[in-house]
Amino acid sequence: MNTSDRELIVRLKDAPGRHGLPQALLQASPVIRRILEGHLAGQEISRADGEILFSAAGPDLMALLATADFVRHQRVGDKVSFVVTRNINFTNVCYMGCRFCGFSRKREDDDAQLISLNEVAHRAEVASQRGATEICMQGGLHPDIKGTHYRDLIEAIKARVPEMHIHAFSPFEIWYGSKKRRLSPADFLSELKQAGLGSIPGTAAEILDTEIRQQLTRDKLSAQAWVDIIRAAHGVGLRSTSTIMYGHIDGPRHWAAHIDLLRTIQKDTGGITEFVPLGFVHSEAPLFVEREIPGVRAGATLDEHLKMHAVARLMLAGWIDNIQVSWVKLGPEVAQILLSSGVNDMGGTLMDESISRSSGASYGEEITAAEMVKIIRDANRLPVRRSTLYVPLETYADHDPQAQAPLKPRPYDPIRFISQRSMAHGRTTAIGELAHG
Ligand code: SF4
Repeated sequence: MNTSDRELIVRLKDAPGRHGLPQALLQASPVIRRILEGHLAGQEISRADGEILFSAAGPDLMALLATADFVRHQRVGDKVSFVVTRNINFTNVCYMGCRFCGFSRKREDDDAQLISLNEVAHRAEVASQRGATEICMQGGLHPDIKGTHYRDLIEAIKARVPEMHIHAFSPFEIWYGSKKRRLSPADFLSELKQAGLGSIPGTAAEILDTEIRQQLTRDKLSAQAWVDIIRAAHGVGLRSTSTIMYGHIDGPRHWAAHIDLLRTIQKDTGGITEFVPLGFVHSEAPLFVEREIPGVRAGATLDEHLKMHAVARLMLAGWIDNIQVSWVKLGPEVAQILLSSGVNDMGGTLMDESISRSSGASYGEEITAAEMVKIIRDANRLPVRRSTLYVPLETYADHDPQAQAPLKPRPYDPIRFISQRSMAHGRTTAIGELAHG
């Protein structure tokens, strides 16, 4: 974090938020004031006006943040929710070559991983014992797995922990699995739902703009395919989250268009539970390290993070009212500031997260429910533990969550965990650093 970011944080910590809204609007420029006052009077923010809001700076930025805080209070009140979840990245083997990805490995790499069904189920069971209500599961597009593997993963968890909500498989994985299974995405999703899939993450969206996307993912999953799969999920009764990955070769025009597209989908299907802005984590991402594409940035700036959450709050108001901050990517301090800039959800406690860390994020692994509650209370908001689908489960008005013992490494277990390299050699030795639980 640079000096100007630090200064901005100090100013925002002292800012009156929505309570200073009238004053903030008076100090804003006419164009920004027109958009914000129009919205407060009930007008939807157009894609073009959304793009203008992304240019806000100085007093305009303060007016934008105060308006987002006001609208957040109007739409969802002062509660801040989170979900107790465990992330399981069941394989990091992937040949799709997304340029922003520092997570994927080749089969023969020493740290290539394919976690056995038994180990996946075991991790879910441990998570359940530690209070998790959700397993969030994603992985690379491993060339050797069968189309049925996705169903097998769900069934393995459900056999051990039937009540667990399984939030799994990005649209990219659904695209891949349905091709392997020789089913339409809708039929594949139906099969997974039948097996116990509860909802899908709206990840792999990156930026839903063909030109940007082709550069990021070599157009493996087109923007239209992402949209079609999300709509197909909603069509078979599975809800999804929605995301954006910003701060690389993109800009305000793409951001406003992306949010506008999500709003259009939501107007049609109503299947999106939340919007999660994901700042690009650059440090180990090939896109940044290898500089193949000119003009790649080292992630978004602090004021861009603020604007992304605030503009989303306003553009999506009444359609997607849960705006989540990813503390994994931004860290608890910035996450707390964002709670006064339109955000009402802190996402998951995670328990071991590897995708962001692989691209160089400084945070990850685990934040306990007790720590989550403290962050929320320190922002003068009321913590609520929720289900994946935003059903409130426990409000921490006058008590704390039960303390949880930290995850501990456990001895190697060759049956639970099989490394990719071992498979290639017909052995079943384990990789120790992944044997947690
Ligand atoms: S982002 Fe996902 S699909 Fe793309 S290379 Fe990484 S693991 Fe593979």
